[in-house]
Amino acid sequence: MADEIRVLPKGYTDTPLIPGQKWRVHDVDRPMPPVIEPGLNSTGAAFSSPPSDAHVLFDGSNADAWTHRSGEPCGWALVAGGAMEVTPRTGDIRSKQEFGTCQLHVEWRAPTEIYADSQGRGNSGVFLLGLYEIQVLDGYDNPTYADGVTAAIYGQYPPLVNACVPPGDWHNFDVVFETPKYENGKLMKPATMTVFHNGLLVHLRQEMQGPTQHRALASYAQPHGPKGPLVLQDHGDRVQFRNIWVRELEKLQAD
Ligand code: MG
Repeated sequence: MADEIRVLPKGYTDTPLIPGQKWRVHDVDRPMPPVIEPGLNSTGAAFSSPPSDAHVLFDGSNADAWTHRSGEPCGWALVAGGAMEVTPRTGDIRSKQEFGTCQLHVEWRAPTEIYADSQGRGNSGVFLLGLYEIQVLDGYDNPTYADGVTAAIYGQYPPLVNACVPPGDWHNFDVVFETPKYENGKLMKPATMTVFHNGLLVHLRQEMQGPTQHRALASYAQPHGPKGPLVLQDHGDRVQFRNIWVRELEKLQAD
């Protein structure tokens, strides 16, 4: 641990109330999910290789499937163990390929060096369509606001449980994302997210309130296309990612 840990806010009292909930966005009083030991060992591997119908976005050999949001080549570092690591302040990266309704597998781990608490510790994120964030955070023995803890649908729904492993150990996210449906610019069906964190169900077909916001309400006021990139967030922490693949599930939404 660093000598001095930067102490950051554990939530807010001045943010808007979330529609249909009794909590504010990042509510300081919202109960934290119970802590559960997921039963993974430190290798964290859920799959030895991707299924044959998956689009492999990262297998450790190169970051060719990725650019920064600006379109610049991916400047994150390839590191030992078939992983890539956030290079702080280079910016988020996005997959070149775009997806709609899909299944996603991604593994990640937080740095063992700790400089801050709450949202300053192992923060990153996985954004479906580049818009809908599942929070990546070192939530192991690290109090923060409930809708910002690891595997939260950020700013909207805490996970059912906190299934974090210690910093330095690998986590798995397995996600089913369903795109929202619009007709003539009007929302007909919200996006949904089903998430397993380290093998434990933490969101079951949760209807999302709109693209992710920080300290503000999400909404579907701005319609977007049916597909978008997978985005990984540069939040300034050296989080590592490995074994990233996506299965397209458009058939699920066929009428
Ligand atoms: Mg984040």
